[in-house]
Amino acid sequence: MSNAISPNPAALTYDYIIAGAGGAGLSLLHYLIASPVLSNQQILVIDQSLQKTNDRTWCFWEMGTHEFESLVHHRWDAISIHAESFSKELPTSPFLYKMIQGIDFYNYVMTAAKLKPNVHWVEAAISNITETNVDHTHKEVLLEWEGGFAKGKMVFTSILPFQMNNLLSATKYDSVKKSATQLPFLWQHFKGRTVTFNQPVFNQKVARLMDFNVPQHGATAFMYLLPINEMQALVEYTLFSDQILEISEYDKVLNEYLAKHYPDYTYTIQHEEIGAIPMTQQVFSNYKAPIYPIGALGLAIKASTGYAFQFIQQQCKSIVAQLEKGSAIKTNVHNTRHRFYDAVLLHILYYHKMEGAEIFKRIFAKNEAATVFKFLSNTSSLWEDIQIMRSLPTRIFLPAVFILLILRYGLVV
Ligand SMILES: Cc1cc2nc3c(=O)[nH]c(=O)nc-3n(C[C@H](O)[C@H](O)[C@H](O)COP(=O)(O)OP(=O)(O)OC[C@H]3O[C@@H](n4cnc5c(N)ncnc54)[C@H](O)[C@@H]3O)c2cc1C
Repeated sequence: MSNAISPNPAALTYDYIIAGAGGAGLSLLHYLIASPVLSNQQILVIDQSLQKTNDRTWCFWEMGTHEFESLVHHRWDAISIHAESFSKELPTSPFLYKMIQGIDFYNYVMTAAKLKPNVHWVEAAISNITETNVDHTHKEVLLEWEGGFAKGKMVFTSILPFQMNNLLSATKYDSVKKSATQLPFLWQHFKGRTVTFNQPVFNQKVARLMDFNVPQHGATAFMYLLPINEMQALVEYTLFSDQILEISEYDKVLNEYLAKHYPDYTYTIQHEEIGAIPMTQQVFSNYKAPIYPIGALGLAIKASTGYAFQFIQQQCKSIVAQLEKGSAIKTNVHNTRHRFYDAVLLHILYYHKMEGAEIFKRIFAKNEAATVFKFLSNTSSLWEDIQIMRSLPTRIFLPAVFILLILRYGLVV
């Protein structure tokens, strides 16, 4: 079978079908084709649009180098946090904060995969994924789209019941939120621009991670400013809230911020990105083996921060390791302890027990960036966790812990 668009996907039961070729689908594909053990497995990749655009910028922190190191567009070894009457610059060592452009990632993985004879492609919008019984012991999965179908022994899907990068379909977001259980649900929503000034204005060594000196809209809101060089930066107005804004409202704040901070200079806009990432522990799918949710659908997003790129890498690497061993597939990436902290932070943010600006200001004021990064990467020790918790007032933190213990585990204290 050719590795171009597959002429007749119905003719074969694929070993693996990747439904959705975005961050998670292509990460999984990357690790699958790198595995010598799995090189004979027939893989079908399906996406509604295989013509990828630069629709997102991935940033993350890490120690050492990365699987996609050659794609890193920029690195920072210092971050800064700003709030009312507070400003702090923190070295990130031993971590670096890194940026990868979506298009570089998509092209890199797809170019390599298109050379593999066992990888096949279909461009179609999947309408249905269902499990069927071949006989008493064997199951397979049927994927359907308008005018076609394919069968697979295992399916890895990242197709959410809504589109994260289309702010115009705000009603869809609302319906997702309304259908959610009682678990807190916030959107991390943002609009960003890559701007180039006519003069050097930025300190390219420091990533401005959070500047809370922006309109809060009754939520947690901050400017995120990542200088690529002295004249160019990605600047994003970001909010954690349950209501997505009109696009003009993000633009207004971006315009005002740039005018306030760089009043004497002019700039041009090279690129824009918008997005909304669900911050929740709500489960969006009830798929069972041999259908496995991955990426945002597979709960790879860290509920308290919206960061997912590194968790997606962990999830996909781990899936491939399990496939190589032939063991039962587990897709969970967040451990119980850190999931509990996420729930506590989300509870505090969602119920406005303390505003995000105050929480993050206190955490960064009292801790090194490396400790915060470890905490947010789920790799902190219990001692480091205690240091982070101690940054918050006990009158805020402890009630949230007790409420969650009671709600989740029925513990009455
Ligand atoms: C703009 C933006 C910026 C982000 N920045 C960061 C960041 O800096 N750091 C970080 O850690 N995380 C970030 N995230 C969060 C997370 O890393 C990304 O959302 C990541 O892309 C999630 O991967 P995914 O595969 O689950 O979803 P996606 O990458 O969205 O992939 C889903 C794929 O499914 C396809 N699809 C959807 N419906 C269908 C259908 N019916 N049939 C066929 N195909 C379909 C889509 O075309 C898409 O290719 C960002 C998210 C967004 C939206």
